Amino acid sequence: MKSSQKGGVRTRFAPSPTGFLHIGGARTALFNWLFARHHQGAFILRIEDTDQLRSTEESTRAILDAMTWLGLTWDEGPYFQAQRVHLHKEAVERLIGEGKAYYCVCPQALLQEKRKKALATGQKPKYDGTCRDRNLPKSPDSVVRFRCPHTGVTVVRDLVKGTVQFSNEELDDLVIERSDGYPTYNFAVVVDDALMAITHVIRGDDHLNNTPRQILIYEALGYPIPEFGHVPMILGSDKTRLSKRHGATSVMAYKDMGYLPEALVNYLVRLGWSHGDQEIFTAKELIEYFSLDSVGKSAAVFNPEKLLWLNQHYIRQSEAGRLALEIVPFLENMGIRAPNSDFVKSVVLDLQSRSKTLIEMAESAAFYFCDDITCDEKLRKEYLNPEGLGYLEAVMQRLPSLERFTKEGIENLLRTISEERGAKLKAVVQPLRVALTGKTVSPGIDQVMMTLGKERVLQRIQKVLKSGKP
Ligand code: GLU
Repeated sequence: MKSSQKGGVRTRFAPSPTGFLHIGGARTALFNWLFARHHQGAFILRIEDTDQLRSTEESTRAILDAMTWLGLTWDEGPYFQAQRVHLHKEAVERLIGEGKAYYCVCPQALLQEKRKKALATGQKPKYDGTCRDRNLPKSPDSVVRFRCPHTGVTVVRDLVKGTVQFSNEELDDLVIERSDGYPTYNFAVVVDDALMAITHVIRGDDHLNNTPRQILIYEALGYPIPEFGHVPMILGSDKTRLSKRHGATSVMAYKDMGYLPEALVNYLVRLGWSHGDQEIFTAKELIEYFSLDSVGKSAAVFNPEKLLWLNQHYIRQSEAGRLALEIVPFLENMGIRAPNSDFVKSVVLDLQSRSKTLIEMAESAAFYFCDDITCDEKLRKEYLNPEGLGYLEAVMQRLPSLERFTKEGIENLLRTISEERGAKLKAVVQPLRVALTGKTVSPGIDQVMMTLGKERVLQRIQKVLKSGKP
């Protein structure tokens, strides 16, 4: 049995393919997905591509890729709105036939002029109804307008915002079909949501003002009205609407910056939704706990540091074998070809607890892969001076015969050298670290040595002993 038949709940995500998948869009998609999964319903993907000028296939692909990456699997679709224009037309014609819509031939320039005048005199610009009762026939330049009632109120019982009333007087006779034959957003969205039997429309609250118009269209077409849930916007730290000024806003930019999808999902869900004071959720928990009752009414502020913190958490939690696969493209971007997965996995195990992103992990991992490492002059002087080279010499002499090339074996060896020479352990370890990694900060030296293997450790030390630098 299909899940949709079981639960009855049907939600949808209806992006316009005019750019990448934005953080805000991803959160809308996630809330719809979670709501559907929680109710064992269906989640539908519909690409709203009727704006022929601004819609691109590339954007559609980018949106599908981003949703797939986030794991927001859809049960139906993607449906393409532009392929459904015949259905929108049928509905328009029905309304015209029933006198609920009419043709309008008011020239754009005249409408603009009237609009300007209204604004100049402090009035709300509104279509003045010139063609409303003219009963005009269709003509090449005509548009179709919806006959809005001028009296009464339209009530939106919103699952997030509560009851919101709109006076019909405020609404004007909106265009539902343009002269090119394409439906406008408010009309197409109603026809599609109704024909796709969507039960819950969950979307950004920038659409709340559209909802009374849409409800009137549902009523005119005799369609059942779905439930609505309008989710507050996401703001940047300065409390303005989240935009590029606040950093990356594209979902896939986070992938490219080395974030794990579950970190982003966990972050996004908490932007506006809460479950007590729990911060970290498995996907199963999210599905179990998600409800629109716990979506806040006010806007949420995007906090990149919290996202980074969650990413670090999920990197720590992840299976090393998986990270060994995820890190490969980041290494490749740095010109590093990862030789074999067992080796990459050991590298990951060394770095997993110290990396906030996969990029950071790849950057810290570079020395494992390139024997041709370098260090700057300052480090060379500080650590690869005669004293430091003396310790390296001692390691070089004893390491070949070290039988237990293990954590304890290596620690013992280094401690013995430091004790024999009356030096601190660190004085022995740091030159060794610089020789092996080119840096003074790295995972534990024993881990580094075991991952590199005895041979490569000896080669790197030898190179430094010969030339004085790594
Ligand atoms: N295509 C619309 C948008 O991207 C959909 C809005 C809706 O969910 O109704 O804003």
